[in-house]
Amino acid sequence: MIVIIGAGLAGLSTAYHLKKDYAIYEREHEVGGLCKSYTIDGFTFDYTGHLLHFRKKEIKALVSRLLDSKLNEIKRRAYIFSKNIYTEYPFQANTYGLPKEVVKECLMGFIEAFLKQGQGARGKGQGKKNKTETFEDWIYKTFGKGIAKHFMIPFNEKFWKMPLDKLSSDWVSWLVPMPKIEDVVSGAIGVGKKDIGYNPIFHYPVNGGIDVLPTAFLPHINNLNLNVKANRISLKNKTVSFANGDDVKYDYLVSTMPLPELIKFCGDCPSKIKTLSKGLKYISVYDINLGIKRNQVSDKHWLYFPEKEYSFYRVGFPMNFSASLAPEGYSSMYVEVSHKDGREIPKGKLINDAVNGLIKAGILKKDDEITVKDIVDIKYAYAVYDFHRQKAVPIILKYLSDNNIFSIGRYGAWEHTSMEDAIYHGKVTAQRLNKKA
Ligand SMILES: Cc1cc2nc3c(=O)[nH]c(=O)nc-3n(C[C@H](O)[C@H](O)[C@H](O)COP(=O)(O)OP(=O)(O)OC[C@H]3O[C@@H](n4cnc5c(N)ncnc54)[C@H](O)[C@@H]3O)c2cc1C
Repeated sequence: MIVIIGAGLAGLSTAYHLKKDYAIYEREHEVGGLCKSYTIDGFTFDYTGHLLHFRKKEIKALVSRLLDSKLNEIKRRAYIFSKNIYTEYPFQANTYGLPKEVVKECLMGFIEAFLKQGQGARGKGQGKKNKTETFEDWIYKTFGKGIAKHFMIPFNEKFWKMPLDKLSSDWVSWLVPMPKIEDVVSGAIGVGKKDIGYNPIFHYPVNGGIDVLPTAFLPHINNLNLNVKANRISLKNKTVSFANGDDVKYDYLVSTMPLPELIKFCGDCPSKIKTLSKGLKYISVYDINLGIKRNQVSDKHWLYFPEKEYSFYRVGFPMNFSASLAPEGYSSMYVEVSHKDGREIPKGKLINDAVNGLIKAGILKKDDEITVKDIVDIKYAYAVYDFHRQKAVPIILKYLSDNNIFSIGRYGAWEHTSMEDAIYHGKVTAQRLNKKA
């Protein structure tokens, strides 16, 4: 028997691809995990923006099949708001329009960094993991002083809530766009390319929120148990105990719950593994969802805010992903604020700071009627890529797999990955299990 814990995309995809007996247990009353949506006063919100960026043809084909091709392909309109103006994403390849001395600093810094390394070395280094380099050193080496000062350092410090020399750089290869020198120069004089980075286009369901994706798995899976929370695992007896008192025996366990929670539940785990797991850190995100009684408060998809005077690091506009997400004549927004170590920010302050910042940036007007102000706190939003994670995660995952437990998905593998990756992890894990006796 294969037991799957969690019916987010990784758990659902495992079940979908398994050719053996399995049962799937989810603690919530619905499937989807973080890939869920909720509706309030006619607005549909995801747990901040959830856009599909496909890099694997097989997963794109699967999602398309599941959704009966009801997916729109959309060209991104993503910008950075700094020095009171919008520049196109990614900042490093689009400095045109910023004050001239800022453009000069960015350009000269990039050229200096380029001369130190040479384009050849940059080319070779992209995608290669340097295990000892800090994220801060990587930023200066890759982009130079100006881009570091005006975007990379303030944005990332605001987001990660920690000094960047505490972070490793082994996760940046696909996430942070690394333009060539000609792109940086072209972007500084206003003739840059528009499709730099991993997400120049994205896909989103034609109708409804992103929850249509996990829901589309349902006709293809069985043995789904909702409202059942796993809370104890015996490695020796190969049993999972649930909060409702049931004990279930497994041959293999696929867990998609956050890795530190899984280890906490494994009473008979060695203390070395427990200690490694306790050191894993994460960032939480307040997802502030607003509904505004005004058509098209913005024509953009999402915006980055590197400056300290804004409490949020990113803002997005769901009504521009799909018109079905907001009532006619209204706009919808999500505003993202990160927090760490359980440091809570009062709800009133979160909303006031968000609304005041949006007015200051010229997105909201003082007399706008805000009909929805709702906040969701996403506890495990981003795994922190520090040097402890780099050492600890492979040891923990190996220990678990030696004990017939596959801990997968974004939080199970404790990594910065996407919906597509979660579906892919589920597929690969099921294929591995299908081959076992
Ligand atoms: C703010 C934010 C924005 C994002 N934006 C994007 C985006 O634009 N595009 C993109 O591709 N990806 C995005 N992602 C990532 C995406 O949400 C995840 O990669 C994906 O949903 C992870 O799926 P999963 O199945 O691995 O984990 P989860 O969705 O977390 O699923 C795990 C499931 O396990 C259940 N569970 C946990 N503990 C127990 C227990 N003890 N017993 C039973 N069940 C349990 C949970 O309830 C949950 O349903 C974003 C993530 C965040 C945080």
